[in-house]
Amino acid sequence: MQTQRLRIAIQKKGRLSKECQDLLKRCGVKFNMMGERLVVHAENMPIDLLLVRDDDIPGLIMDGVVDLGVIGENELEEVGLERAARNEACEYIKLRRLDFGGCRLSIAIDKDADYSGPQDLNGKRIATTYPQLVKRYMDDIGVKFTTCMLNGSVEVAPRAGLADAICDLVSTGATLEANGLKEAEVILRSKAVLIQSTEAISDDKQALIERLLTRMQGVIQAKE
Ligand code: ATP
Ligand code: ZN
Repeated sequence: MQTQRLRIAIQKKGRLSKECQDLLKRCGVKFNMMGERLVVHAENMPIDLLLVRDDDIPGLIMDGVVDLGVIGENELEEVGLERAARNEACEYIKLRRLDFGGCRLSIAIDKDADYSGPQDLNGKRIATTYPQLVKRYMDDIGVKFTTCMLNGSVEVAPRAGLADAICDLVSTGATLEANGLKEAEVILRSKAVLIQSTEAISDDKQALIERLLTRMQGVIQAKE
């Protein structure tokens, strides 16, 4: 469904929301976040912000429901692989990598376990929210494994006897340490990215995207 206004999906609440809103504001987009609204209209440009769970953003882009989205590469790639496996549309255009949301997706094991390399993961059960990315990594290196899908509390799975290892997002490593785990392998280094749907759009909308991108370039460079 095409609209006149450019639709941008961003995370409603979470690790990407503040920086994402700040970035848009620095690019000159004026808006007022209030209440529990799903759609926020920009006051000075033909832009609508869609406030959603980050998990929904890749699909909204790949289905062409929104024009732009800001999402962590970890989520984007996981959903892309999942949709490809189901033969669903999984295309998008990566416009640029952003300067926030940095983290790594890592496999972690008991901090006291001996570990000399990925072959030590052979036959292990790995708890994760990212089964597709784990499978891609393990298949690439030819190590057999099983998964235990968890959408939360991944880091307690080994202690709870649900899994031998985990694969989860890490930034400082404090959560791992607090749960008696150590990082064994980094399987993805992720940042937030700005993506566009491959759906055809009007020249006006495309021009607005180019303008936003130019401003973003300036804003991000000024911070470096
Ligand atoms: P939602 O309610 O929108 O589903 P969520 O709990 O799935 O939120 P957040 O924890 O807010 O998601 O994380 C959003 C994204 O922030 C992650 O997918 C990742 O790209 C990035 N991120 C950066 N640092 C971290 C970190 N230390 N832990 C988790 N995610 C991080
Ligand atoms: Zn989420």
